[in-house]
Amino acid sequence: MKTEIIKIDTSVPGWDKQLDDAAQCLKSGGLVAFPTETVYGLGANALDEKAVEKIYLAKGRPADNPLIVHVADTQVIGRLTSNVPEAAPMLMDAFWPGPLTLVMPKSTLVPSIITGGLDTVGIRMPSNPIALTLIKKAGISVAAPSANSSGRPSPTLAKHVIEDLSGKVDFIIDGGSTRVGVESTVLDITVNPPMILRPGGVTIEQLHKLITGIRADKSLSSAHLENSVPRSPGMKYRHYSPNATLLLVQGPPELVASEIGRRAELYNNEGSLVGILSTEETAALYDSSLYAYCKILSLGSRKEPESLAANLFRCLREFDEKGVDIILAEAPDISGIGQAVMNRLVKASGGNIINL
Ligand code: AMP
Ligand code: MG
Repeated sequence: MKTEIIKIDTSVPGWDKQLDDAAQCLKSGGLVAFPTETVYGLGANALDEKAVEKIYLAKGRPADNPLIVHVADTQVIGRLTSNVPEAAPMLMDAFWPGPLTLVMPKSTLVPSIITGGLDTVGIRMPSNPIALTLIKKAGISVAAPSANSSGRPSPTLAKHVIEDLSGKVDFIIDGGSTRVGVESTVLDITVNPPMILRPGGVTIEQLHKLITGIRADKSLSSAHLENSVPRSPGMKYRHYSPNATLLLVQGPPELVASEIGRRAELYNNEGSLVGILSTEETAALYDSSLYAYCKILSLGSRKEPESLAANLFRCLREFDEKGVDIILAEAPDISGIGQAVMNRLVKASGGNIINL
């Protein structure tokens, strides 16, 4: 299949016309990758089973891992759900358009291929103008998981989508770097109080301001993740993984840096190329003699957890490009969006975690 790549700059008037062909293609059953504010998504017409099947094929995604349905207006929620839970309007008002997916009881219109056989459907309204305009122009609801090969780090640049999906999709819309950098928060509102199934762009602190008692499964950002019973099918898969083995080191930053430095030297001596995922605050703690043998990337500032989220997947892919064998990653603080960053690192590590 030939993949058409369309580069869009939303500061140029008339940019929306560049989406006409892709919108038509989506509507008639094709696959279109597009930027959202979280990560790039791979979209298909949510109510067309054959189209949705192509998403699973292109990504190599397990069939029981449900997809999120993206909408451009709240009117369609009534058609996609069998009833709208009480908490929904308030949450949509506060966080839509934005990185919050609401899990609600599905209507019969929603094919079970979308929901991995569950009787619930995850729905969100993205805020990225390219995503919103594309969905509006297509005039449909759009099922869209992240636009990566299943298991790999999610795409935050069009170049990542091209790496994974070129030749497997009809269009890739290049809208530059995604703003948030980690996926949406998935909130199950079929239960009371609601339960966070995946931490993401909307933080638990933000949700608590609106609804008291919201719970987050502890396993979401802890070392016990691999042994827990998944509450959502997507939770059980190895995810976000670079080709390199990732070892996550958790503890006070100075101790973490010295343990990472010690191991970097050890693995170097064994002949492995080592990547160190550091932060602005800790980068100076690494012995500069290591630099010759290690690739060191800074995720951003610990004082701005948003920067850690924005750079995470790009850095993991950069280590792969550099041919790194082992990534030694500092665990972030889990307040705010740090919890989502920690969750992705825990999953990428496959449980390979050191607690100091
Ligand atoms: P992705 O599209 O790759 O960002 O992954 C979507 C994730 O959202 C899945 O892996 C699930 O964890 C979650 N999800 C989507 N729909 C549902 C649902 N109906 N029930 C529970 N979790 C869901
Ligand atoms: Mg994904």
